[in-house]
Amino acid sequence: MELVSNERDVPGKHGRHFSPPRPWFKSGIRAFPEDKIVDQAEQVIIGSSAAGLSALEAIRKIDRQCPIILISKEAGPPYSRVALTHYIAGEIKFKGMRMRDGDYYGKMGVKALLGKEVVSLDTARKCVTLDDGSAISYDKLLIATGSKPLILPIEGTGRRGVYTCLSSADARKILRTADLTEEVVVIGAGLIGIQAADGLYRRGLQVSLVEKLPQVLPLMIDETAAGMAEAHLREKGIRVRTGQSAQKVLGKGPRVSGVALESGEIIPCQMVIMAAGVAPNVDFLQGSGVTVNRGILVDERQQTNIPGIYAAGDVAETVDLLSGERVVNAIWPEALFQGEIAGLNMAGVPATYQGSLAMNVTSFLGLSMASLGLWEAPGGPYEVKAQTDKGRRTYRKLVFRDGKLVGAVLVGHIEEAGVLHAMIRAGTTFDLKGEDLLPQPITWGRILLANALPGRG
Ligand SMILES: Cc1cc2nc3c(=O)[nH]c(=O)nc-3n(C[C@H](O)[C@H](O)[C@H](O)COP(=O)(O)OP(=O)(O)OC[C@H]3O[C@@H](n4cnc5c(N)ncnc54)[C@H](O)[C@@H]3O)c2cc1C
Repeated sequence: MELVSNERDVPGKHGRHFSPPRPWFKSGIRAFPEDKIVDQAEQVIIGSSAAGLSALEAIRKIDRQCPIILISKEAGPPYSRVALTHYIAGEIKFKGMRMRDGDYYGKMGVKALLGKEVVSLDTARKCVTLDDGSAISYDKLLIATGSKPLILPIEGTGRRGVYTCLSSADARKILRTADLTEEVVVIGAGLIGIQAADGLYRRGLQVSLVEKLPQVLPLMIDETAAGMAEAHLREKGIRVRTGQSAQKVLGKGPRVSGVALESGEIIPCQMVIMAAGVAPNVDFLQGSGVTVNRGILVDERQQTNIPGIYAAGDVAETVDLLSGERVVNAIWPEALFQGEIAGLNMAGVPATYQGSLAMNVTSFLGLSMASLGLWEAPGGPYEVKAQTDKGRRTYRKLVFRDGKLVGAVLVGHIEEAGVLHAMIRAGTTFDLKGEDLLPQPITWGRILLANALPGRG
């Protein structure tokens, strides 16, 4: 098998060229010693998703010529994980998830090493080693390796029919089993679990959701919104078990036959989706000297503690714009944003990331919800204004600090999320009367204008 796809000879800014693959290399026979450096580039990017591609495009906007090598352990074309639920539901084919067209890497003048996993990083030699033993050296390196799924340490997770839901490969396995399955248990009711449940429900499966915390979407919405979400899920026929842990995956022979909960309840199923959380993909950094906390620590230029090495996206730990705390904000828009900042800095254009702003938006079985910024009002000097309309199934909660909007939870009218997000980022100050929160939808421009007029308040 060839190591290199879309290879191209790109003249370098400093007169360097990509070297063509050596004959011994192309033959597929590993005739080189361990860790032999087989190629080099001014810029090396690990990861071909939101953060990696955003960085690549930012570099190319500045420099059309510099040699870039992009490495991804996924062999196929880049796609959006956000669309996985529609793929699982059968609403789109894989090509509906694709992010770029067929000859993307060629057009970008990038050497793409696809289906290759980086297994270690040597910062002294400035090279990464791939799973075939070859090594690639870099001048500047971006780590955009995203997250990996966490598997609960419970009995039975090795059975046939237990899957995670993070990649197109996971989705294909789920789809192969879904047609032979009537009942599925989704363990974990966070964003990924809810979306997997939604896709499988729409595919016609009987779905059960198990969440060990007392509410669904615990990291995304407050208790009121979660109550509305759970009522909606139950109404649609989804079995919801909150405040309960899965204790064991049961089986008939090698196949899954059910999930036993801590409470003693047994939920029969032929498939289990593990959606119990994610962790940054950093195993290959062991011993490299790159500092990892909850994610790879980066500064405001997305640079790690090692000069010339950058990180962006789900793998990076940045600073929350509002609280100033260090966070891994694993969402698509922040991955794009951080990737762009990293790419600009790698290309020599100083750019600064202002900090990450939480924004989670989801829609399941016809109910939409969103949360932004400091939606929890985490104690201290926060003012909360909220309105619930049970008949219309809408809920709006706004959180203020010193008169500035800092957070929001929305149920049922999430089209306002964009404007609220912009107001939070801009630190917009305004006052609201109780009745201001009632209209569906709210004309925010009118409220801001009224605040600007004298006599208000
Ligand atoms: C089912 C699902 C639904 C989601 N829904 C939403 C949503 O509605 N809204 C939202 O904002 N976000 C959502 N997300 C999160 C969003 O997809 C991520 O925030 C985003 O994909 C992060 O992009 P990234 O580039 O940092 O990493 P990833 O998309 O995880 O990509 C990582 C890349 O690194 C490569 N890689 C990893 N390790 C190695 C290695 N060792 N060697 C070589 N290559 C490697 C992978 O092949 C991949 O190309 C969802 C995620 C999932 C799974």
